Amino acid sequence: PKAQQLPDQKVDSLCPYCGVGCQLTYHVKDKQIIAVEGRDGPANHARLCVKGRYGFDYAHHPQRLTVPLIRRSDVPKSADLEMDPENILDVFREASWDEALSFAAGKLVTLRDQHGKKSLAGFGSAKGSNEEAYLFQKLVRIGFGSNNVDHCTRLCHASSVAALLEGVGSGSVSNPIMDVALAEVVIVIGANPSVNHPVGASWIKNAVKQGSKLIVCDPRRSDMARLAHEFLQFNPDTDVALLNAMMHVIIQEDLIDHTFIAKRTSGFEAIKQHLLDYPPELMAAICGVPADTIREVARLYASAKTAMIFWGMGVSQHIHGTDNVRCLIALALMTGQIGRPGTGLHPLRGQNNVQGASDAGLIPMMFPDYQRVSEPANIIKFEELWQLTPGSLDTQPGLTVVEIMHAIVQKEAQGKIHGMYIMGENPAMSDPDVNQARVSLAALEHLVVQDIFLTETACFADVILPASAFPEKTGSFTNTDRTVQLGRQALAPPGDARQDLWIIQQIAQRMGLSWNYPHVSAVFEEMRLCMPSIAGISWQRLERDGAVTYPCLHEDDVGEAVVFTQRFPTKDGLAKFVAAGLISADEQPDADYPMVLITGRQLEHWHTGSMTRRASVLDALEPDPVALIHSDDLLALQISAGDIVTLSSRRGTVSLYARADNSSPRGAVFVPFCYYEAAINKLTNSALDPFGKIPEFKYCAVKLTAGGEF
Ligand code: SF4
Repeated sequence: PKAQQLPDQKVDSLCPYCGVGCQLTYHVKDKQIIAVEGRDGPANHARLCVKGRYGFDYAHHPQRLTVPLIRRSDVPKSADLEMDPENILDVFREASWDEALSFAAGKLVTLRDQHGKKSLAGFGSAKGSNEEAYLFQKLVRIGFGSNNVDHCTRLCHASSVAALLEGVGSGSVSNPIMDVALAEVVIVIGANPSVNHPVGASWIKNAVKQGSKLIVCDPRRSDMARLAHEFLQFNPDTDVALLNAMMHVIIQEDLIDHTFIAKRTSGFEAIKQHLLDYPPELMAAICGVPADTIREVARLYASAKTAMIFWGMGVSQHIHGTDNVRCLIALALMTGQIGRPGTGLHPLRGQNNVQGASDAGLIPMMFPDYQRVSEPANIIKFEELWQLTPGSLDTQPGLTVVEIMHAIVQKEAQGKIHGMYIMGENPAMSDPDVNQARVSLAALEHLVVQDIFLTETACFADVILPASAFPEKTGSFTNTDRTVQLGRQALAPPGDARQDLWIIQQIAQRMGLSWNYPHVSAVFEEMRLCMPSIAGISWQRLERDGAVTYPCLHEDDVGEAVVFTQRFPTKDGLAKFVAAGLISADEQPDADYPMVLITGRQLEHWHTGSMTRRASVLDALEPDPVALIHSDDLLALQISAGDIVTLSSRRGTVSLYARADNSSPRGAVFVPFCYYEAAINKLTNSALDPFGKIPEFKYCAVKLTAGGEF
């Protein structure tokens, strides 16, 4: 009966999934979330996608971790370990919190004292709150004693951040998604927002209906391409060729913004010379887009009064990801399409708090607010704030995600990683060349995992600390638009699971740090002291307004949704052109491995699937691992849609179902990375972009054969 479905309580919070940051209200009855409805937040105006609306019952899943666990002494770690969550007690035994925390922290201290401060590392989480990210990086920097702290931004937009910091002095977006309503022309490149940022995509679609011209550039024909004025299906791995050719046209046809270039930028003459070598006729042969189309799109973008660029991991996840983004920045700068409403650069951030986690310093080369660890003034500032004796903090940038995995199994003692603390991340699924990542995790002398489920990574742990799901805690989260919002607690953690902030502090205390923050707001208030960009956002203001956009420098500051209006936050106030040449992917198809693998996400599932595959509606919609393959390729290999196929690379093999999908170009296979039964990162390549240290998830050589088992 309807009356039985009325909630006992409604709690205003946020969606725990993508970076759009939709506001929602949980309906809670009998300590369970029974429904979710959208709220009128700045990013969603009550809209929600299928994940936001139906992706909540993972929090009540019977496989939730509810008690601390310690590995049984008679069960050795193995890189092949495939553990059944139902038989968890075959490998681990239950422990009290006191025993588990003392064991977790005590062994970290022993390893640090035995092998030195750089022998430990920590992965925080882009799914946690800003406060959790801040405390986690502070623990690694003070308690572990190094900058070996990173998180999954390394796997998604690290190259975007590297290029943006270099070019415009800030790693975040210049304009919010909503600005698309003011844009005459919108470029979406290397992104599939209908799948990965669905509510954001709905605003782009609305803008198209109102007359904006959409240009979609992607090797795959995404849903957005249906609405596009022009769809440029360029060859995988040829972004720089396409973008340099567009810029060549803009310069040759004098469509540049002379005033903007003269007053707001440096380095134009050098890039102008460089781009002479990239005429569209020549580049068309490389990128596969006709020269006339390149010309038309270049004219459209440059001549528009307002034009925005959105991009995703199709751009960033290459060994030349930083170069790809340098081109996008140069395109916006030479046309003056930045610093005004309806213009600008928007890297669509993936996880719900990847922006905030990076802002909070969960990266190895920066303190909070992108203050470099190598700057002596920053060392002094943070040593004073954190009340440390001078000379305590490490002045060398730490290792990044993939570098840490490699350092675990290196032979040399110098820089070798012996112990790790992983909070809410799943590198045993998400890292490239994951067979090797699993060898690394199994080789750790001590691994502490803090999570809500027995993830693939937790299978390698020495101690597992049961943590809180998103609806079980209060904290601030920063979306892709730079808007800081409050997620509010609606449920108590199950069993003896605890809040993440409490667990981090307990580890800190057992490592000798006298931390005792009475409330999450106390952590946020400390963050304001060292992060000028959020100095004007008080906890009270967040509670009152629910959302404030930074930069927000003082309490009367309304916050800046559009930045770079007068100057760029660089030393000279100017933006910098940086030229990019053609670099091929690290691994090319050949006779043995003739196809290209592209990995990514699906609408219904999120990242490594630990939450959405335990959300009943989402799992029912997409229950099985699939490879999306062009129907002509299926025909050529005599494979029918629905058959099991096997994909192999030089690093591994997986079997999964074939799905006919003509959005993928011929010769390329697209596979989501959320399925543990067919962990596609067993095949991917761990080669890194030298600037962003991001792996090349969007291109490696594979072989497709009929049949297989999983
Ligand atoms: Fe959640 Fe993103 Fe969907 Fe909004 S668009 S409901 S934030 S997954």
